Amino acid sequence: MPADHTLPFEGGCDCRAVRYRMTSAPLFVHCCHCRWCQRETGASFALNAMIEADRVILLQGTPEVINTPSNSGRGQKISRCPTCRIALWSNYAGGGDAVRFVRVGTLDEPDRLTPDIHIFTSSKQPWVVLPPNMPAVAEYYDSEKYWPAASLERRRALMAKPKRT
Ligand SMILES: [Zn+2]
Ligand SMILES: [Zn+2]
Repeated sequence: MPADHTLPFEGGCDCRAVRYRMTSAPLFVHCCHCRWCQRETGASFALNAMIEADRVILLQGTPEVINTPSNSGRGQKISRCPTCRIALWSNYAGGGDAVRFVRVGTLDEPDRLTPDIHIFTSSKQPWVVLPPNMPAVAEYYDSEKYWPAASLERRRALMAKPKRT
């Protein structure tokens, strides 16, 4: 069944101090099998919905931003609930503050967002079996090749915006 992209997408942390709403469908959903994501989730992969930061609105609370090392060596900022410390989203150096990687597992209905691509499958845990015909790459990928046209257009609009200081 295709992912259900009807609105709204709401989510939050375990203690409910932080609640957010994604105001549209994401740009693209990564299922990342890198060792970093395995450590950060304590599991086998991370499921991250990439979305413009201004399409994630806070309904309640203010996440605390923790600078954390990342695979690229350039670090990531993980936004966590200040009380229960659950991670809600990351900002990586590449997309800067303009793009959030929302942790799909923090959505109230995480089943609605399925992976668009599996990345870093070179370190995929062997028991994780990917469905056939699912885009999968050993490491990273060229978004021009995999993203739908509408998402590429949204990204162009994002990059054309003047940077907020
Ligand atoms: Zn919390
Ligand atoms: Zn990863």
